[in-house]
Amino acid sequence: MENRERIVILGAGESGTGAAILARQKGYDVFVSDAGKIKPFYRDLLDEYHVIYESGGHTDRLILNASTVIKSPGIPESAPIVKLLRKKEIPIISEIEFAGKYTNAKKICITGSNGKTTTTSLIHHMMRKAGLNVGIAGNVGRSFAFQVATEGYDYYVLELSSFQLDGMYEFKADIAILLNITPDHLDRYDYNFQNYVDSKFRVSQNLTEDEYFVFCSDDEITIKELEKIVSRAEQLPFAYHRKENDVAWVENDAEIHIEFENVDFTMSLQELSLKGKHNTYNSMAAGIAGNVLKIRNDVIREALMDFQGVEHRLETVMKVHGINFINDSKATNVNSTWYALESVNGQTVWIVGGVDKGNDYSELYNLVENKVKAIVCLGKDNQRVIQAFSGKVESIVETNKMEDAVKAAYYLARDGDTVLLSPACASFDLFESFEDRGRQFKSAVRAL
Ligand code: ADP
Repeated sequence: MENRERIVILGAGESGTGAAILARQKGYDVFVSDAGKIKPFYRDLLDEYHVIYESGGHTDRLILNASTVIKSPGIPESAPIVKLLRKKEIPIISEIEFAGKYTNAKKICITGSNGKTTTTSLIHHMMRKAGLNVGIAGNVGRSFAFQVATEGYDYYVLELSSFQLDGMYEFKADIAILLNITPDHLDRYDYNFQNYVDSKFRVSQNLTEDEYFVFCSDDEITIKELEKIVSRAEQLPFAYHRKENDVAWVENDAEIHIEFENVDFTMSLQELSLKGKHNTYNSMAAGIAGNVLKIRNDVIREALMDFQGVEHRLETVMKVHGINFINDSKATNVNSTWYALESVNGQTVWIVGGVDKGNDYSELYNLVENKVKAIVCLGKDNQRVIQAFSGKVESIVETNKMEDAVKAAYYLARDGDTVLLSPACASFDLFESFEDRGRQFKSAVRAL
């Protein structure tokens, strides 16, 4: 198929490379431009598919002649090349928007400030168990575009970040799931929370009465926003305490109930493989999706029971002398750490710190006063954490190496206690990524 429309792709990471390969396959004139160094893995892929690219800078004249630009989610609006494109009114879309045009697969789309990867993986696990031909993409695994180009799935479970949603216009989900909205990434939204809320709500845009919108009715921001907009989709809210219209809820703090089109589903919280209140929400959202997809109750139950969880998200590492070590390195904001602290039983030594994106720690005071016996700070600059919590716990220790943090926590904890790494901060001061931080934690624990 020949199509000489010019597509320029900014950023040659997972999504950009996938988009380039799909665009090539569809016969577009494709050019990829990356301001940084393209990783050898992606360079090789681009070569394999005969895609033309530049690395280490943007050449304006090769970009500004595009009919459409596909921008990697990591590139901010403030980047000079993006500003130039906006000025010239060249459409900028995301890889998800582009790939969505080339598949008839049904799409289950998950967004939210926290819980996306967990819920996406859980739904994927459930659908595979049900024998469906399903791919997983978005922020996880190979890009959606790459899979549309190279696989033939009937369904996709897509994890969508707000940055991906920003570049989505005509894309339509079949089931849209919005888990929660709490402030995050405000630096990318002109420090205007409403802009971020609008971005999250794009997951539900274009839905008609044939599609489904799953959301948490305990989430005040979501509810407030829903009062303002008109959605034609079938609304499927879930909540901890049942309210009118909820299709999933928790009864007596003990079991989840899902009621959907004459099917009743009940399961005790103890049977759920994912623990903690936040994960109960994630499990309810997944269970609703399972019901909409007409997956049998026994398959849904089994999937919610034997899901292995995702690395670095409240991951139990091991017990050392009766002390339970938990790796929640992915907790890079206060809200996710709130749920981590909420989920632990007994006394906790909490390892916290890193790059603080303007955290308001006061939301954690209650939990910290009740559950945390000691704080181990792990960051280049620990002053904000120390200031926020001094006087609220018995002891605060400062460290700036994972090994020291784990040793200090081990020393402070007793049989039956938990050592929780849940930093509430980004990792870039001392680590390459949250994965690197989590892995270093696990090896330090294993070396005790
Ligand atoms: P995301 O992909 O949205 O970043 P993850 O599933 O990777 O979400 O989880 C990120 C962090 O948030 C983890 O620390 C996890 O324990 C916590 N978390 C998971 N689900 C929720 C939820 N529904 N609400 C709040 N925090 C959550």
